[in-house]
Amino acid sequence: MKKVSVIIPLYNEKDSLPLLYEELGQALESYTSDYELIFVDDGSTDGSFQVLRDFQTRDARIRVVRLRRNFGKSAALSAGFRLADGAVIVTIDADLQDRPSEIPKLFRKLEEGFDLVSGWKKPRRDPLRKRIPSLIFNRVTALLTGVPLHDINCGFKIYRREVIEEIKVYGEMYRYIPVLASYRGFVVGEVPVEHGPRRFGKSKFGATRFIGGFFDLMTVIMLTRYNKKPLHVFGVLGASLFMSGLVIEAYLSIGWFFQRWIGDRPLFILGVLLLVVGVQFISFGLIGEMIAYSTRRDEDYSVRETVESDLRSAAEIRVPLVRR
Ligand code: UDP
Ligand code: MG
Repeated sequence: MKKVSVIIPLYNEKDSLPLLYEELGQALESYTSDYELIFVDDGSTDGSFQVLRDFQTRDARIRVVRLRRNFGKSAALSAGFRLADGAVIVTIDADLQDRPSEIPKLFRKLEEGFDLVSGWKKPRRDPLRKRIPSLIFNRVTALLTGVPLHDINCGFKIYRREVIEEIKVYGEMYRYIPVLASYRGFVVGEVPVEHGPRRFGKSKFGATRFIGGFFDLMTVIMLTRYNKKPLHVFGVLGASLFMSGLVIEAYLSIGWFFQRWIGDRPLFILGVLLLVVGVQFISFGLIGEMIAYSTRRDEDYSVRETVESDLRSAAEIRVPLVRR
């Protein structure tokens, strides 16, 4: 096993690659020579792959994965994680906005006892239209998940291998790896990193990336907090709606006994609506429970280590059978 794997997802970053390669080499050499660089070409059309292949013929520590078309950064990262051999895995953007010279800083933080350290771009060299949505996004995420990172979306991170082996990433979910990791008991931290303006090419993401992000956030919250008890969310919600409906209808019924016609009252309709929606929510919760039960994996927990004697496996110390 290699000591360190660096995963670099890239899409049309031809001009950044030579400098990136050189700077990565310098930054890693100061730490170890036992590393690999995994470039994941996410369907580039600008000749990035040819540049990478050229590096590869000269340096055996380089591995290049070429996706058949542009699948998106998340897919590119997954492809890289699958290949990575290292005990420690670094991810870094290819556009030189993340500085390879900051990698040792991530290593130092990891060695303080963290399992995952996220970069925190500070100050961030992106246009305001990107910084403001990002700020809101990070605040809301920190608040709702309880994982207090300032820049959860940062592409510059370092992981212990165990983290990657345990966490499944799909869709745009890579943003939430820290949340999923923290939920499984991994120690998550962050460290401020230098951030540069984009030097070559152009950004692949606009501010719209955050819209889908909030839906992913809902998914993550369901998956972490309520994964094993969907009925707890839907049940509480459904029961309170149902009870409010019941109270409304009871109140109207009492009036009806005193000759008050209730068929045309808006409150009547509201009460019925609450009853129906309440029952629906409870049913969702029950279906959720059935799905959770039938798809339950054995690894609903995460083991840090197991301590036991080596002698256990030796056949000689079999416990003698006691005969009376
Ligand atoms: N990227 C990718 N596939 C995509 C879009 C982006 O591999 O479909 C890579 C991109 O080449 C870069 C990193 O993801 O290395 C971050 O993208 P970008 O710099 O465009 O994002 P920004 O820094 O503007 O948020
Ligand atoms: Mg960038």
